[in-house]
Amino acid sequence: MTDEVSSKPTRLLTFDDFVRFANEKGISKSCPACGTQNWVVSIDVRDSHIPAIIAKRIPDNGSEFSLPVVLNECSNCGYLRLFQRDKVEEFLNNEEAKTEESELYKADEEYE
Ligand SMILES: [Zn+2]
Repeated sequence: MTDEVSSKPTRLLTFDDFVRFANEKGISKSCPACGTQNWVVSIDVRDSHIPAIIAKRIPDNGSEFSLPVVLNECSNCGYLRLFQRDKVEEFLNNEEAKTEESELYKADEEYE
């Protein structure tokens, strides 16, 4: 694993990763347009990961702005909603840190 700091997506996201994120954050399952509770998350069929969809604006002065997002689509009406991919990655990194902490704690207990 590297510690590179980058504005680009740093890890692959799976569907399960996003579901855990959505549950933890209390994201509504109801579509704001039609009320249906059936969402599709775009998955790259080649490796079953959520692709980094990047909203990008390149102004004339050459500076660059990009915003990686996770796209959800209502399967009934096609309503689209976007989540900042950074937030999902932050959640997963915190989740991993907690798991490592509890593993360290277990190791301490076994040591005694
Ligand atoms: Zn809908």
